[in-house]
Amino acid sequence: MVEDITLFGIGASPGIAIGASYVLDRKRIKPVERKISASEVSEEIKAFRDAVRVSKKQLEDVKQGVADRRLAEHLHIIDTHLLILEDQLLVDDSIALIESDLINAEWALKRTLDKFRIVFDAIEDEYLRDRRSDIDSVGERLLRNLIGADQQSLAELERKSIVVAHDLSPADTMQMDKKRVIGFITDVGGRTAHTAILARSLGIPAVVGLESATALVREGMPVIIDGTSGIVILNPSQATFKEYLEKKQLYEYLEQELLSYRELAAETLDGHSITLRGNVELAEEVDLALREGAKGVGLYRTEFLFMNRERIPDEEEQYLAYREVVERMAPHPVTIRTLDVGGDKLVTDIDLSDEANPALGLRAIRFSLQEGKLFNTQLRAILRASAHGQVRILFPMITGLAEIRSCKNLLEEVKAELAAEGYAFDADIQIGIMIETPSAVLIAELLAQEVDFLSVGTNDLIQYCLAIDRGNEHVAYLYEPLHPAVLRALQMVCRAGQSAGIEVGICGEMAAEPLYALVLLGLGFDELSMNAPYLPRVKRIIRQARRSEALELVTELLQFGTAPEVASCLQKEMQQRFPGIFPVQQIRKAVTDS
Ligand code: PEP
Ligand code: MG
Repeated sequence: MVEDITLFGIGASPGIAIGASYVLDRKRIKPVERKISASEVSEEIKAFRDAVRVSKKQLEDVKQGVADRRLAEHLHIIDTHLLILEDQLLVDDSIALIESDLINAEWALKRTLDKFRIVFDAIEDEYLRDRRSDIDSVGERLLRNLIGADQQSLAELERKSIVVAHDLSPADTMQMDKKRVIGFITDVGGRTAHTAILARSLGIPAVVGLESATALVREGMPVIIDGTSGIVILNPSQATFKEYLEKKQLYEYLEQELLSYRELAAETLDGHSITLRGNVELAEEVDLALREGAKGVGLYRTEFLFMNRERIPDEEEQYLAYREVVERMAPHPVTIRTLDVGGDKLVTDIDLSDEANPALGLRAIRFSLQEGKLFNTQLRAILRASAHGQVRILFPMITGLAEIRSCKNLLEEVKAELAAEGYAFDADIQIGIMIETPSAVLIAELLAQEVDFLSVGTNDLIQYCLAIDRGNEHVAYLYEPLHPAVLRALQMVCRAGQSAGIEVGICGEMAAEPLYALVLLGLGFDELSMNAPYLPRVKRIIRQARRSEALELVTELLQFGTAPEVASCLQKEMQQRFPGIFPVQQIRKAVTDS
């Protein structure tokens, strides 16, 4: 048997697992078309309804059986699946097809699911596209129940295993007992699918999107998975086994050590403090952010409240959602970003015209300023939520002073409206802007005079600064956070904030990369906001560094003319300072990723 068969996928949940495989038969069921006679219609509809009923019962059972407290906050996923089972489009359309086209229930379900898939596949946004997997899981469960196939359950797993499956539903993941499922790999899936999110919550290493794992892995085969790099090794040789055993030990030692950072202040050895905050999309993520030591929310992406639904949320619904985040995070501040749709983020009920260059089109603040009613509703909801804790408003993709002034005028109008209606709100609510465009960088000094804080969105800033589409894999190699132009842009923004005496933060993905922590500290950022699991990793670097050396490092890096030169100097410096944290291989990976 060939040794060391290496597969490359998407690292969905960090950590290393070494063990024998357990192949879960979750291959897509292939339904067959069968024409039925009119007299068989009621029988097929009954079979379909029975399958829906059984599926609901199974999901209810999964819900009841969830014992792990860390999963309690994710039970809404099962509720979403239960809701899908009640969805008119899925259930009624399938039944209508059985009646109108005289076809068997499985085929009718398949055609309805295909319709859903076409809609979801057209979506560019990764997060939204991954939501398709919820419909797929429900469809698969229904199909299995329709044809009477066995629902192999992970709850029955008897030995410690690495689960290998074509796909895993969130319900499968919730049934995982960490003592037995030590890791999992799947052919399909993305980093932001619920299954991946759950794996991260449970701390189970996982690699998804491997395409051919189920075709290559045999039951009981030895497997190594590295959920950080997305590498999977089948049938490892002695040498590989030993190498990964050491890596696993190092990883676990470092993780253990990380736990101790959660409660500690984000302060350098020479006494300089920096604020670490969490990025959230949903209220449920707030608890995790708090557990990982976030001192507030630095970016609440409200557009996720508008996605995955037919109608946009009204003022009351928005108010309740914002209020929940604010109350959960109290007494720390929550930075609520106004709607950032357009570009790669689409919302069903918002009709954006077909644009040749959506990233340069009607998106973010431009859209909100054009859609006065929608913007007014959101500002009302945010202001009302500000009565329940510390709220800051953040406007996305600002390019000039006129936009800020319009936003501020509208905000004043909304305040007057709410006051007249007797609503409570924070009249001195802090206003901030995202620095995501080169124009905002160039006039950062002027913009800083108008607001209470600046927050750099490096995901977009790098895209616009380097003219690299952030979602285009063909130019991904040019998407360089360490490009001298990006570093200079970040420096200009920090300086502008400092001379205006206001806080400057960063909430793009750059903030979450420990390799960049010293650079950002040295540039002068006051706040770093990131997804919760990265908070202790970044804090560890900050606590082991001196601000003075970070300043020296930045001065040194700014002398280089190309991103690879900056990267190679940075990796050397970081490896020297933190040899345990940045082994050579890992640094190479972070630099190539960037
Ligand atoms: C950014 O652009 O860096 C950012 C934080 O916003 P988003 O990723 O939502 O565009
Ligand atoms: Mg952005």
